Amino acid sequence: MSVHVIDEANRCLQCPNPRCRENGCPIHTNIPEMIRLFKENRMMEAAQMLFENNPLSMVCSLVCNHENQCEGNCVRGIKGESIHISSIENYISDSCFERLELKPAPSNGMKAAVIGAGPAGITIAIILALKGYSITVFETHDKIGGILRYGIPEFRLPKSILDRYYKKMRELGIKFRPNFAIGGSTGIQDLLNDGYKSVFIGTGAWKPRKLGVPGETFGNVFYAINYLNNPDVYELGDKVAIIGAGNAAMDVARTAIRHGAKEVVVYVRGDEVSASKAEFEYAKVDGVKFEYRKSIVRIVDEGAVFIDDGPDGDKTERLYPADSILIAISQVPQDRIVTHEKELKLNENGNLATDSKGETSLAGVFASGDVVTGAKTVVAAVAVSKQIAEDMDRYMKANL
Ligand SMILES: Cc1cc2nc3c(=O)[nH]c(=O)nc-3n(C[C@H](O)[C@H](O)[C@H](O)COP(=O)(O)OP(=O)(O)OC[C@H]3O[C@@H](n4cnc5c(N)ncnc54)[C@H](O)[C@@H]3O)c2cc1C
Repeated sequence: MSVHVIDEANRCLQCPNPRCRENGCPIHTNIPEMIRLFKENRMMEAAQMLFENNPLSMVCSLVCNHENQCEGNCVRGIKGESIHISSIENYISDSCFERLELKPAPSNGMKAAVIGAGPAGITIAIILALKGYSITVFETHDKIGGILRYGIPEFRLPKSILDRYYKKMRELGIKFRPNFAIGGSTGIQDLLNDGYKSVFIGTGAWKPRKLGVPGETFGNVFYAINYLNNPDVYELGDKVAIIGAGNAAMDVARTAIRHGAKEVVVYVRGDEVSASKAEFEYAKVDGVKFEYRKSIVRIVDEGAVFIDDGPDGDKTERLYPADSILIAISQVPQDRIVTHEKELKLNENGNLATDSKGETSLAGVFASGDVVTGAKTVVAAVAVSKQIAEDMDRYMKANL
C-alpha cells in the first residue's frame, strides 16, 4: 500500500492552479500541499492540515465520489491515469489520526447543543469544542456516525473509524446522550431553557421516499435505509429485486449478495444508473444484474410488475418474480424534530428552511446537512457545517 501511495505522490505535477483542489474538491482540500508535505516526510503536518480543513478527511477519502471530484479533475487524467489522490489522503489521515494534536481553546463557559451525530453534527461538535464551547450531542441511535454507520456498509466504510472519531471527540470533552431523540419528551425549547446558548440540528434525511405504487406495504417490501440499518434481521430469500439505481441501491444490492441472496437484480428506470462509476462497477463484479427501462407498476406477493419504459418498449405489463423487493429511491428529512417543532419553518421541498448563515426560523437554532439540503453527500454536509460552526460562534459571542 505505502509503495503505491509513494509512487502516486511522486506523479503529482504540483500544478500552480490545481484543478483537483479548486474545481474538484467541494471542501477545497489543499491536495498539492498535502502531497508536498508527504513527500518531504512531514506527514503529521499534512494530517493536521487535512483535519483542520475537513475533520472528516479520513471518511471522505473513502466515500467521496473521487472520480467526479479531485481525481476527475487531475490534469494527469487528461491523457492518462489520474493520481490516486484518495489513497494518499486516506494513508495520511488514517495513519496520523490518533496522533493529531487538537488543542481546544480555554473554556468560554458557554454550552451548545448538537442534535444528530452524523457528518454535520460531528463537524459542528468538533469545531465548537475546539473553540472552547461545552458541547452535548443528542443522538437517536446508540452510536455516532449517522448514515456513515447505519447506512454505508462496513465493506465501504469500516465502523471502527467511527469508533475512533468517538474516542477523539470524548478527548475533546464532548458529551454524548445516545439513544435519545430530541422532539419527543424533550424539545428544542427545553434545551434553550436549560441555558444552551445555541442549538444545532443535523438530523439528516431518514424517511424513505415512497414509490407510490400499490403493494408497497406488503411483507416482502423493504426500504433501503431501513434494511441497511441492520441487514442481519432481514430474510430476503434467494431472489431480490432492487428499485432505484443510485449509490444507495448499489449498497443495498451488494449487501444483499453478501448476506446470501443468489440473484440480485437492479431495475433501472432509464438507460443508465445514477450511481458513481466505481460503485456500479463494483456491483457488477459482485454479481448484481441490471435491467434497464423498467418502470414499476405495482408490487405483488410474487414479485414486481414493470412495463418497459423505452421509446420502442413493449408497454405490456410483466411480472418479474422476486422473493423480496428493496426500494432505494432516496430519503426525505421529515423526522420527529421537523414534524413536531411547529416553529421551525420548512422550505418548498419539505426540508428545514435556513437563512444564509444556517439559522432556522427559531433564533439561535441552526441547521445543516441533509435535513436542510435533502439527501446529498458527506463532503457537502461537512463543507457547509464548517461555515455554520463559525456563524454559531459569532451568534453566541454576540448574545452573551
Ligand atoms: C445508503 C447510503 C449510502 C450513501 N453513500 C454515500 C457515499 O458513499 N458518499 C457520500 O458522500 N455520501 C453518501 N451518502 C449520503 C451521506 O451519507 C449523507 O449525505 C450524510 O450522511 C448526511 O449527513 P447528516 O449529518 O446531514 O445526516 P445523517 O448522516 O443522516 O445523520 C443524522 C443523525 O441525526 C440523528 N437524528 C435524527 N433525528 C434525531 C433526533 N430527533 N434527535 C437526535 N438525533 C437524531 C440520526 O440518528 C443520525 O445519526 C449515502 C447515503 C445513503 C442513504
